[in-house]
Amino acid sequence: MRPQYGYFADPFLLEFDSRVTQMLSLPDGRVGAILERTWFYPTGGGQAHDLGTLNGIPVLDVYRQEATGEVVHVLASGKLASDEPVHAWIDGDRRLRHMQHHTAQHLLSACLQRLFGLETLSAHISGYSPSTIDFPDRSLGEDELAQVERLAHEVIFQNRPVTTYFVPAAEAARLPLRRPPKVSGEVRVVEIKDWDYSACGGTHCLSTGMIGVVKILKTERRNQKTRLHFVAGWQALERFQELHAIVGALGTALSAGKHDLLAAVQRQSKALRDAQKELQTLRLERVPIDAQHLLVDAISLGDVRLVTALFVDRPAGELPALAKELTKTRGVVALLSTVSGEAKFSVVLTRHEAVALHAGECLRRWLTPLGARGGGDEMFARGGGAVTEEQVRNWLENIPARLEEVFDATYND
Ligand SMILES: [Zn+2]
Repeated sequence: MRPQYGYFADPFLLEFDSRVTQMLSLPDGRVGAILERTWFYPTGGGQAHDLGTLNGIPVLDVYRQEATGEVVHVLASGKLASDEPVHAWIDGDRRLRHMQHHTAQHLLSACLQRLFGLETLSAHISGYSPSTIDFPDRSLGEDELAQVERLAHEVIFQNRPVTTYFVPAAEAARLPLRRPPKVSGEVRVVEIKDWDYSACGGTHCLSTGMIGVVKILKTERRNQKTRLHFVAGWQALERFQELHAIVGALGTALSAGKHDLLAAVQRQSKALRDAQKELQTLRLERVPIDAQHLLVDAISLGDVRLVTALFVDRPAGELPALAKELTKTRGVVALLSTVSGEAKFSVVLTRHEAVALHAGECLRRWLTPLGARGGGDEMFARGGGAVTEEQVRNWLENIPARLEEVFDATYND
């Protein structure tokens, strides 16, 4: 039996009057309406359902009942009654986007088959995000994808009529269908005039020109298949506008024309790398001067000179060199820390060779109340954790006392 769906005959009829024949209580608690006749598209064939309203009530989902073939309109609320007349409205923007992508999919599938013998295994049609076509795994180079786009646009610009018609199965078998039909009995054929024949129940443009433009975005390998992503029609225009705006903003930011953008970015990257290198060299050269400044504020505890410091946003990798420089001075114990970002804390502890202190043991114990971790050998230890600048400042104030405890314990032994 040939199913009778309104959109088969007229995919541009977006408002109609009908009558509720049955209201359904669906297993998920929602309510569905079946109409005397409908032009809504139910999900199927890789194409999503229409959206719209029935007497102003939003239609959230539309699907075909497997057993009866009837179309169920899932409603946002259950205000319709059986036998009630309804005025229906279909979201035309969504419908057109689906038509453009669905027709573009037929066209791209035909191009892939004609150019490279690739049979489409499945497709997913979306109006608001890229649509996809899956075919047997085969990597396609940029040149090959450009060939597909070129052929597709030749057919788009020829503005070939796209027609749909039903033929008996026997007749369908004589048509050069791209894939054997999945249905038995009558077959709905979608023909891009004299160019492509496909068995399909979806909504399509009336001519290839309505696709507007189609752009392949990428291909990727997926479950031993290749998936091609593309946009068409309105979505292709929106993407072009978006990319055009991005390129324009980049050009302004970099003071470069679009053809010079890449070179401008590469120049800036190189300049940044060079500057970072130079900064690192200058910082290393500055280490002895920094060490002298820190030693001025050293706290004397008997023979020991304790140097503590907290830097903000100084790379943790610079602390060991400074600590090493400090411990050239007799009696020095150096505890250097840095905090960057919200609470990224790093610390090193080291000492002059003559000071009797196990750096690794001390730092491990001292960090425990901070919730940070650390350790090392007798001479050098490092640590860190998620600690704020304020917490580190309070912690550093207690370090002289903690160090005295260590020496008191040592002398008592
Ligand atoms: Zn189709």
